[in-house]
Amino acid sequence: MSRTPIIGGNWKMNLDLTEAQTLATEVRHRLSAYLGAQTIVFPPFPYLLPVAERLAGSSIGLGAQDLHFEAKGAFTGAVSAAMLTSVGCKWVLIGHSERRHVFGDDDAVVAKKLRAALNAGLKPVLCVGEKLEERNSGETFRVCGRQLRTALEGLTVSQLEHMVVAYEPVWAIGTGLVASPEQAQEVHADIRQKIGDLLGVTYATKVRIQYGGSVKSSSAAGLLTQEDIDGLLVGGASLQAEEFAAIVKAKG
Ligand code: PEP
Repeated sequence: MSRTPIIGGNWKMNLDLTEAQTLATEVRHRLSAYLGAQTIVFPPFPYLLPVAERLAGSSIGLGAQDLHFEAKGAFTGAVSAAMLTSVGCKWVLIGHSERRHVFGDDDAVVAKKLRAALNAGLKPVLCVGEKLEERNSGETFRVCGRQLRTALEGLTVSQLEHMVVAYEPVWAIGTGLVASPEQAQEVHADIRQKIGDLLGVTYATKVRIQYGGSVKSSSAAGLLTQEDIDGLLVGGASLQAEEFAAIVKAKG
């Protein structure tokens, strides 16, 4: 089964407006003609519209880093799914580890956010991953399985047509500790099997699963050539257009 690689650049809470516009323009310049992978950038909320303008008419996708599950109301500081689509977002990260572990989004909140995204027609990147102590106590598969199950429960294959899953071990995010290709592949294969149990083998064979955690251009190819690794979610290294473009093109 051939799955088009998908590479996301999560800019997190970085860059000023001018830097964000410049980065978007450079990413477009370096990657919009590249057909070997699908590329998405996830800028901070205030830069979504200016970045959308820079990417208009290109093949580079635009996503948000989070959303609130309610449609509107007294939720100071929050952003709804409809607000995101109105500024040109097509994608959204759901359950990123910094949302789970810095902001306290639990499995129930992640499940509500996933439904809000799907109801608005946004394509979700559902992030799962274990903490270091969970890996060390042999709980990696169980933790990722629980995060998947609670998020996907009751959803159908047609609702999830465009979903991408990102396996992001918490201990690898922003730490410089990238999982080895073998470590990542082992978890990806287990995630694909669990998705098959929940949604059927046909869906599981098609769904794309990204790896995220301290990826650089030097580690990208080794990860991308693993059987069940269909893309990468890149944080720090996505802030430099040249390095990000090298990651996107790493598989050749
Ligand atoms: C991320 O933010 O999803 C991520 C993987 O970050 P980094 O590449 O910096 O570890």
